[in-house]
Amino acid sequence: MKDDVIGDYLRELLKKLQDNSEGEVAAYIPELAAADPEPFAVAFCTNEGQVYAEGLREGDAEREFTIQSLSKPFAYALALKEEGLEEVARFVGVEPSGEAFNELSLDKATKRPMNPMINAGAITVNQLINGEESSVEDRVNKILEFFSDLAGRQLRIDSDTCDSELETSDRNMSLAYMLRSYGMIQDSAEDAIVSYVKQCSIMVTVSDLAMMAATLANGGVQPRTHKQVCSRRVAIQVQAVMASAGMYNAAGRWMASVGLPAKSGVSGGIIGTLPGRLGIAAFSPKLDEAGNSVRAKRVFEYLDRDMGLHLMAPEKQGRVAVRSISTVEDDQTSGGSQGKRTVIRLQGDIDFNACEKIWRTIQEHDFESENVTVDLEKVDEVNSVGKRMIGEFRDRLVRNGMKIEIVDPDEVLS
Ligand code: GLN
Repeated sequence: MKDDVIGDYLRELLKKLQDNSEGEVAAYIPELAAADPEPFAVAFCTNEGQVYAEGLREGDAEREFTIQSLSKPFAYALALKEEGLEEVARFVGVEPSGEAFNELSLDKATKRPMNPMINAGAITVNQLINGEESSVEDRVNKILEFFSDLAGRQLRIDSDTCDSELETSDRNMSLAYMLRSYGMIQDSAEDAIVSYVKQCSIMVTVSDLAMMAATLANGGVQPRTHKQVCSRRVAIQVQAVMASAGMYNAAGRWMASVGLPAKSGVSGGIIGTLPGRLGIAAFSPKLDEAGNSVRAKRVFEYLDRDMGLHLMAPEKQGRVAVRSISTVEDDQTSGGSQGKRTVIRLQGDIDFNACEKIWRTIQEHDFESENVTVDLEKVDEVNSVGKRMIGEFRDRLVRNGMKIEIVDPDEVLS
């Protein structure tokens, strides 16, 4: 049977929003100003590497565009991977700036850029990649290869957009001079901006972006190639900073309304991650006054509403962890209380909340003998906290004189 329920939903969503023509394309980069303002596409990638991509018009879903500021979280990931969290923190902070992306702003006390999601921070991060001594070419190649690993295919740089932006880079040049004056970057301002603008000119589709975002959501493991592209710790760090600063001066409103780590760029893309589950990307070039794509933003609002993505509104835990607790006749032992056995049957996913409930139930129970069976047959999964706590429960029951038998046919504890 071939019936694309998710594709149909995404196509319908794009149609619902197609009449929204608000916003303006970015005008300060001539090549972007001249671009078609109409393309509209959305994609998401699951933690199993399944990609769903749809476009409003023929070709929209496969259309390549420059990554622009959507490169910032990924370049940050590469710098963290190469230099480590502490070293990178010496040059760039993790606090939201509450300012526009190209603001000439630095932390007043440390003179570091506030975060890696605004231009000052991104130019600094770019300079950390491949070491201080790196040529522009080697640094850019390193970035291109890393982004290609995230996307799961070889990406390329669009030299037309790059050249076009370099002709109108006064603002970024002034940022580079400012950063140099405080010793935050070492290259000449010119080289620093060429390197940064090349990073911004890498071409991607919504599917590439969904997969790149899904790699972050998936703890650094590319869900299709299974390559560990960056560490889990790095993936967490990047998404945390996206959550607080990814949408520039609209970051707070975004977190309240959509509630996902996200990043936007002037070519009209927005990416989002649902940690552990999904990478999402939407693209349409017209931007609002904060520099975020109007239609892409609406896509996220709808997805959030329809699919319940908001991180602050998690699904309620489905099943109670203790399926039953009962006393049965025990044929392994004989006579008096010796002939009885308490059987505790657990079920569902065992996490901290489940364990808290399990322990409370155990303590309230009147044990008729010291023979206890804990049956995990109906348990789906035990997370790391769950494993530690079940181990602790076993030790404590033993200390209280119980004889414990654990039935774990599917080896959920190992
Ligand atoms: N290359 C662009 C710039 O530096 C990226 C900005 C953005 O996407 N917000 O101005």
